[in-house]
Amino acid sequence: MTTPSVEYTLGTWDLSPLMPHRDKEYLEARLQEILDAARAFERHRDDLRPDISQERLLHILREYEAIVERLHEVGGFASLWFSENTQDPEALAFLNRVQQVLAEAENRILFFTLWWKRLDDAEAQRLLPQAESQGDYRFFLQSLRRFRPYTLEETAEQIINIKDANGIRGILTLYSLMTNRLEFELEVDGEKKRLTRDELMTYVYSPRPDVRKAAYQSLYREYSREAPILAQMYENRVRDWYNEHVRLRGFDSPIAVRNVLNDVPDAAVDVLLQVSREHAALFQRYFRLKARWLGMDRLRRYDIYAPLTESDRRIPYEEAVRLVLDTLARFSPVMAEYAQRVFAERHIDSEPRKGKRGGAFCMTISPKYTPWVLVNYTGRLRDVATLAHELGHAIHSMLAEEHSVLTQHPPLPLAETASVFSEMLLTERLLQEERDPLARRELLASAVDDIYATVMRQAYFVLFERLAHEKINEGASAQELYADYLMNLEEQFGDSVEIPEEFRYEWVSIPHIYHTPFYCYAYSFGQLLVLALYRQYKEEGAPFIPRYLKLLSYGGSARPQDILAEMGIDMTDPAFWRKGFAVVEEMIDELEATG
Ligand SMILES: [Zn+2]
Repeated sequence: MTTPSVEYTLGTWDLSPLMPHRDKEYLEARLQEILDAARAFERHRDDLRPDISQERLLHILREYEAIVERLHEVGGFASLWFSENTQDPEALAFLNRVQQVLAEAENRILFFTLWWKRLDDAEAQRLLPQAESQGDYRFFLQSLRRFRPYTLEETAEQIINIKDANGIRGILTLYSLMTNRLEFELEVDGEKKRLTRDELMTYVYSPRPDVRKAAYQSLYREYSREAPILAQMYENRVRDWYNEHVRLRGFDSPIAVRNVLNDVPDAAVDVLLQVSREHAALFQRYFRLKARWLGMDRLRRYDIYAPLTESDRRIPYEEAVRLVLDTLARFSPVMAEYAQRVFAERHIDSEPRKGKRGGAFCMTISPKYTPWVLVNYTGRLRDVATLAHELGHAIHSMLAEEHSVLTQHPPLPLAETASVFSEMLLTERLLQEERDPLARRELLASAVDDIYATVMRQAYFVLFERLAHEKINEGASAQELYADYLMNLEEQFGDSVEIPEEFRYEWVSIPHIYHTPFYCYAYSFGQLLVLALYRQYKEEGAPFIPRYLKLLSYGGSARPQDILAEMGIDMTDPAFWRKGFAVVEEMIDELEATG
């Protein structure tokens, strides 16, 4: 399955399919083409009359789709280039320029979707494309109607768009600039190191308690220095969110905005958060077990990701890639072939570099392109899991590449399905091959560590966000937010973990709550969903696989509730979410039995 001609070496990606040249004139010419296309699109203003034909509408929609495709290309390229090196002034300049151009182009084509959203129901119904082959267009148009109650007049929409480019989006760019350039000092065995955040965070997995503590202290020392500014940015973000969405557009609450975007009922998210909260004690039990294994009376927050055994095992990149591809192939050769394409086309930036964006992500531009993946591979087992995770995202997009750019991307609640499922496959594979009981315990425990970080930690971020949005809009100070954050941690950990004071700065270090408020419940959603699906896979065996691939291949071409209903899942039922936690409970029971 893995062709010998493909070499798996750490390196950077190839963005040339997206943008063959990077000189200023060329880039500007591409931007002008897009602006021209957007200007030309405006001629359709006169077509949008109540007596427009279905065919005419479809024709306009296809032109709209083509422009969106180009916006994704240029916006995606700008963002990938900036991720390559966030300190590159040319990449930054282009990113800024692109944001201006995107805002202008979006403004020019906006009238089309606005018109569509404002049509009355009977007219919209008459115009919906009916042919089987136009299902994507039909679904896209139907989805837009969801925003009908929250849409403003065209000039208001344009003003918001223009003001956002240098307003809230400007603030968010500053947040990225400030936090990406932070360097962290860490002294290990008498040697002083200056590290990026990703490099620093590898030390929180150190077997040495003093090193873990020093790493976290260094992290929050730097963040506490910037905290007054970062907290101010957050307050701006939150007030802007409220003013635009709740006050002007009329959403029920700040989190309801995300729920409508995600096409998930408020009730489902409430149930998810509530059931998570109910299970805080489950992970507290795990942390007490972990303290015992580590020979501590009680874990400190520094210790929750501590390994159980002293292993400095590093997995070479090539071995990691082959392991992940082979694991995918055993589940479904189709999935492995898709993942293979990411390497064959050099769509992955794998090496850690200074200035490169931290963490990991997968970016889907459009159905025409294999997605691009960024990881910072340092050789830990966790990095292998991250690789499986991001490739899962890429596979999900590729399975949905028959759809339109307008419907390829899965809705957020399902966006973490393939990624987390791939991680589960990897863990199971490693558990099967491991005979040594201590190593098995380590593997299982590190899986529970990850589930904690994906389910519980993220649910508590969102619980904090919900409170913070409420309080900031009532005029709360940053000091109150720090105190609230500590209380959030105390509820989450109970008396199972000691929380040092500096963790009050944790929230200003979480990019998601700035960039995409309430995003984080999608992680809890995705992980619990996958645990439940995985259980289904174990029960059903092979027949599960095509059903699962079908679920993924919907991409964003159907509603999350409908896609899940096909798998027999009701997301507003607490019993469904408890099923996910039951799997975790079994893992913890098994761990407890190991002594
Ligand atoms: Zn992900």
